[in-house]
Amino acid sequence: TKESVKGFLRRNLFVLLTIAAVALGVMLGFALRPHNLTLRKIKYFAFPGELLMRMLQMLVLPLIISSLVTGISSLDSKASGKMGMRAVVYYMVTTLIAVFIGIVIVLVIKPGKGHRDSPVASSGTIEPVQAADAFLDLIRNMFPPNLVEACFKQYKTVYKKTIYTKNVTITLNLTDSLNATEAETVVETIPVSGSSNGVNALGLVVFSMCFGLVIGSMKQQGQALRDFFDCLNEAIMRLVAIIIWYAPVGILFLIAGKIVEMKNLAEVGGQLGMYTVSVIVGLLIHGLFVLPLFYFLVTRKNPYTFIAGLLQALITALGTSSSSATLPITFRCLEENNHVDKRVTRFILPVGATINMDGTALYEAVAAIFIAQVNDMELNFGQILTISITATAASIGAAGIPQAGLVTMVIVLTSVGLPTEDITLIIAVDWFLDRLRTTTNVLGDSLGAGIVEHLSRQELQSQDVEVGNSVIEE
Ligand code: ASP
Repeated sequence: TKESVKGFLRRNLFVLLTIAAVALGVMLGFALRPHNLTLRKIKYFAFPGELLMRMLQMLVLPLIISSLVTGISSLDSKASGKMGMRAVVYYMVTTLIAVFIGIVIVLVIKPGKGHRDSPVASSGTIEPVQAADAFLDLIRNMFPPNLVEACFKQYKTVYKKTIYTKNVTITLNLTDSLNATEAETVVETIPVSGSSNGVNALGLVVFSMCFGLVIGSMKQQGQALRDFFDCLNEAIMRLVAIIIWYAPVGILFLIAGKIVEMKNLAEVGGQLGMYTVSVIVGLLIHGLFVLPLFYFLVTRKNPYTFIAGLLQALITALGTSSSSATLPITFRCLEENNHVDKRVTRFILPVGATINMDGTALYEAVAAIFIAQVNDMELNFGQILTISITATAASIGAAGIPQAGLVTMVIVLTSVGLPTEDITLIIAVDWFLDRLRTTTNVLGDSLGAGIVEHLSRQELQSQDVEVGNSVIEE
C-alpha cells in the first residue's frame, strides 16, 4: 500500500540515497574519463569527496576515546573481561579463516604463474625493515609516550645510512680514510605521520580501555568522568547524524573522482588481472558466506537481515577505503538499524576497526604468494605457515586508513625472503582492492559486535539488574 511504501522510503532514505550516489558516481566518472582531465582538475572535481573524508576523520578521535571509555566503564571488570575475550577469539578465528581462504584460492588459481609480464627494475626505495622491527613497532605503538602526539603520529623503525666524508675527519692515513668513506647503517625509531591521517589509533585504544577500566572501578568517585565521556559520545553521535546528510554527495564524488583518475583498464590484464580476481573471489567467499555462517551458527538469526542494516556503512567503506573513517557510520547503523546494545558497540567497534581486518589479512596472504609465484619461487609448507602468521600480524598492525595494508605487506614479504620492491607490481590495482577489503573489514567488525552481544546476553542482563537496583536504592 501507499503508506507502507512511504514508511519504507522514510526508513531507508539514506541507504537509498547512498546507493543512488554510488550509481551516479560510477556513471559520472565514466562519462568524464574520455575528457582526460589533468590531475589538478581531477583534484578540484573530487573536492566534495575529500571533504566527506575529512569530516568523518575529524570525528574519529573523540569517538574512539569517548565510546571506549564509556563502554568499558559502564561494565564491571568481569563483564568487560569476558566480552573482550569473546571479541578477541572472534577476531583471531575469523582472521585466520580469511587468511586460509586467501591461501587456498591463490594456490588454486595461481595468478602469478607463467612469465612475468612487467619486470620491475629494483628501485631500492623501500627500506629494509625487518619483520621483527615492524612487530616491535606494533607493540611500541600500543604505549604512546605522549597522548597528544598519539593523536597524529605513530612510531616507526627506520634504517638510515650515514656517510662519513673526508671533511669531517682531521688527519687520516690512507686506510683510515678508506674505511671512513664507507656507509654505516644506523637504526632509529622515530615518530612519523601517516599518509592520510597519522593517528596512532592502537595507542589511543589501549589507553582508553585502561582508562575506562579504572574509571569503572572508581564507583561513585568516577561518576563525573563517566558522565563527561558519555555526554561527549552522545554529542559526537549527533554530529554523525548531521554528516550523514552530506555522505551521499561525498561518496558520489569520491567514487567518480577515482574512476576518472584510474589508469587505463587495459593495462590490468594477464597476471595482475588474475591476481585481482583471486582477491575478489576470496573476499566474496569470506564476506558473503563464511562470516554470515558464523553469525548464524552463534545467534541463529538471519545474518543477511543484519547485513541489510549495515548497508550504509558498507558503502561508506567502499567509498572512503578507510575503516576508521567509516567508524562513525558503522556505529550509527549498528545502534539505530540493528539495535545492538550500546555497551557492546562502544566497546567492540573501536577495537575492531583498529585491529580486526579480515579483508586485509586475506589480501596480504594472496599478494605475498602471488609475488612468490611471479618470481618462480616454490613455497614450502613452513613458508606458507609463516605467511599466514605474518599476514595476520600485518593486518592487526595496519591502520584503518587507505592502503595501509600495502605498507604492512613489507612484513609478510621479508618474513619469507621475497623482494619487497615487487610491491610495485600490485600497486596499480590496490586502490580498488583496498575498497573491497575495507568493506570486508567493516563487515567483520559489525558481525562481530552482533555475535559478542549475543554471547554476552547474561552479563548485560545482570548488569541491567544491578543498575536498576542502585537506582532504587538512591
Ligand atoms: N584500508 C583498509 C582499512 O581501512 C586497511 C588496508 O589498507 O588494508 O580497513
